[in-house]
Amino acid sequence: MTREHKFDPSKFWVNPEKKLDLGKRPTKAGKELSDKDVAEDALAQDVSDLRQQQEILYANRTHSVLVILQGMDTSGKDGAIRHVMGGVNPQGCRVYSFGPPNETERNHHFLWRPGPCLPEKGMISIFNRSYYEEVLVVRVHPEFLEPQRIPGVDLQKPKTVEAVWKRRYKEITRFEKILSSNGTIVLKFFLHISYDEQRQRLLSRLREPDKNWKFNPNDLAERKHWPKYQYAVQEALIRTSTKETPWYVIPGDSKWYARAAVADIITSKLEDLKLEFPKIAKDESEKFGEYIAELEKD
Ligand code: AMP
Ligand code: MG
Repeated sequence: MTREHKFDPSKFWVNPEKKLDLGKRPTKAGKELSDKDVAEDALAQDVSDLRQQQEILYANRTHSVLVILQGMDTSGKDGAIRHVMGGVNPQGCRVYSFGPPNETERNHHFLWRPGPCLPEKGMISIFNRSYYEEVLVVRVHPEFLEPQRIPGVDLQKPKTVEAVWKRRYKEITRFEKILSSNGTIVLKFFLHISYDEQRQRLLSRLREPDKNWKFNPNDLAERKHWPKYQYAVQEALIRTSTKETPWYVIPGDSKWYARAAVADIITSKLEDLKLEFPKIAKDESEKFGEYIAELEKD
């Protein structure tokens, strides 16, 4: 079943041992796919492979998959989920969107929230945004920390706030390591769009009536913090990317390229597990002849 993959995951991987300059990572489509039609064919192949991979995953129940999608507003997270997971058995896959935490969630450690959303063995969970927002949007707006009432944190004392991010990167890394050692394949994608591409997409949301519902005036306010977000993303990625729990920066300005890349990386990572449908024990399979005969006589 293994076949050639168009994308080399290591090209997109954030290597924690190297410097990450997000501004230098491409947002434009790479040369793996010549155009949209080629990308659609590649995506269809991966979607079909992914369906089978999930079935094998479910049959074995040794592993699960957690896919985390992050990206600026309009970066194409929803579309990527729709296209990449559209072919997977709905019983094998769940999608969770992370918006602002409610009061109960704010009264817990931030890694309490994803608990019930984690994939059980055999399943795939997709996080549309995630607990990473706690080091992204919250880092850009440290006042969001206030209702969390974390001991020792004083917004007037920047060092105490800075310590929160450092601690959170470590906690996230440890948390994901725990998941990984229990058989969860953690794959994290940052859909990387340019400032100008976001402008175009916001304009289409305003100009095209069918897209009006997607427009949120708050996106304009957040856009003003673009450099702060890019910095927060860069820090989060470099501090929490590991070999076992990798971050991939996916060029996002062409939706067709980003979707094909995400699908291809997920399928190739699942293939690396070399899982197969479980084999039936010989003494059990020997009885199959009798079962068949019984049913044929029925
Ligand atoms: P959307 O993805 O467009 O549905 O928007 C979800 C919004 O929730 C985004 O503006 C996120 O920044 C925000 N959000 C997600 N997680 C958190 C969090 N932990 N704290 C504050 N805001 C969050
Ligand atoms: Mg939004």
